[in-house]
Amino acid sequence: APVLRLIDIEKIYQTSTVETSALNCVSLSINRGEFVSVMGPSGCGKSTLLSLMGLLDEPSVGTVEVNGRPVQSYSEKDLASLRNEKIGFIFQSYHLINDLSVVDNVELPLLYRSGMSAKDRRKRALAMLEKVGLGARTSHFPQQLSGGQRQRVAIARALAGEPEIILADEPTGNLDSVMGEEIMDLLLHLNEKEGTTIVMVTHDEAQAQRTKRQIRLLDGSQVN
Ligand code: ADP
Ligand code: ADP
Repeated sequence: APVLRLIDIEKIYQTSTVETSALNCVSLSINRGEFVSVMGPSGCGKSTLLSLMGLLDEPSVGTVEVNGRPVQSYSEKDLASLRNEKIGFIFQSYHLINDLSVVDNVELPLLYRSGMSAKDRRKRALAMLEKVGLGARTSHFPQQLSGGQRQRVAIARALAGEPEIILADEPTGNLDSVMGEEIMDLLLHLNEKEGTTIVMVTHDEAQAQRTKRQIRLLDGSQVN
């Protein structure tokens, strides 16, 4: 089964005065090992799509499946561990905790894992930092790092939990083109060499062309 499957999804945001249809009849599958980019103009529904894929929000209509099982069939508690264990997030603005060292930031998602000792958590976090080329920066604090380095920490944090899929919301959006290119190279390496499944929202057509598949949205509908 696909890692993630969205079937006939509709998402309507309802406020007291306005009803916005953010996604319209969207169906798509993300298979293991894919690197998919999501493109489209501002307001077309990219963030909404990512939050549904990340199980952070529910569709108004339709079904989301993880590994072939509908998300609705999970209890609230199982859904929380599903979100924590199967999905890694990367954000445009990194979302690191400035009071924690780099290695402590990377360990964060592991704190909620039962059966992992402090020693194993540290070992895993250091290995992930090595993997993203930050082996020499593990005791630094986020504000001592460049933007590109901060995003590498966030990628190491996303990888630490060994998720089935990484969801990246404009991961190079705050970076200059050189650092953005380096982050893109790292994501491509993780996908090609380690088989990491990635869905990435981007505004950058050149970046999107480097991924294996592009999903294009316009006014909440898929155009391809
Ligand atoms: P994108 O990420 O492509 O810019 P979004 O998914 O953020 O698009 O938004 C899609 C549409 O849904 C837009 O019209 C936006 O104004 C609306 N929208 C997004 N979030 C909310 C919300 N929490 N409440 C009401 N409307 C929303
Ligand atoms: P860039 O030019 O790539 O944006 P910076 O000028 O921010 O990078 O940082 C260059 C190097 O200096 C980086 O390797 C970073 O780790 C280090 N560095 C930056 N600020 C500090 C600081 N306040 N304390 C210690 N090291 C720092």
